[in-house]
Amino acid sequence: MVARRRRLVVGNWKMNGDRAANAALLQAFLAERVGDEAEVSVCAPAPYLVQVSTLLEASSIAWGGQDCSSHESGAYTGEVSAAMLAELGCRHVIVGHSERRALHAESDVFVAEKAAAALRHGLVPIVCVGETLAEREAGATEQVVARQLAAVTALLGTDIDRVVVAYEPVWAIGTGRTASPEQADAVHSFLRDRLAEASAGSDAVRILYGGSVKADNAAQLFARPHIDGGLIGGASLKASEFAAICRAAAKTSTHGVASP
Ligand code: PEP
Repeated sequence: MVARRRRLVVGNWKMNGDRAANAALLQAFLAERVGDEAEVSVCAPAPYLVQVSTLLEASSIAWGGQDCSSHESGAYTGEVSAAMLAELGCRHVIVGHSERRALHAESDVFVAEKAAAALRHGLVPIVCVGETLAEREAGATEQVVARQLAAVTALLGTDIDRVVVAYEPVWAIGTGRTASPEQADAVHSFLRDRLAEASAGSDAVRILYGGSVKADNAAQLFARPHIDGGLIGGASLKASEFAAICRAAAKTSTHGVASP
């Protein structure tokens, strides 16, 4: 039997926005009144998290960071600690996004250390995994995502139950090329099995799909049995588009299984 997990939709604004645009975007999104059948979160650039928290604190929408340091504090110029994000009321933090793995040479172990730092401070890490186009074409998708996830399960042990996993094929991010629901679901099913091997309590862990999710493809993706929601980049910058994606997730959501 496939467990039904409450759907989670997370917006990743990446390095976009300014004070005026953020306020307009969130006010327009709140006016859409998407309801709370699905959990919704917005991961904003760190300098705007105070503004975002002020705009969202009276709503059911959560917020989070896009990265955190693996260190607690100290001489790490430019880094943002998990404790700082927690103090700003963040619920989530994205770790291991493919842009950081590629542009900042973040290794699987380094990403795992960031996830551990997030958990130490009560944040839910959203651990991104995914293969490049060359890796997919070489038939290495499962090998790559298994390796990326294994680094996290090895460090966290049964604390893997407290994370969210996001499968984001690199070739689908920001390209307009989405994995088909069947392609995505197959990888999610594979990841679900790896999670189950790592921890008997991992059933509540949500596995999000990310990569060119839009209002017009979200429903088919979220209808798949192993897809528990989405990590949304470009479309999270348009209030009506993001709201439509959240509504699509809500239609398949349930409060039945408590998830981190
Ligand atoms: C992302 O950045 O995590 C992402 C999925 O981007 P997009 O939706 O724009 O492909």
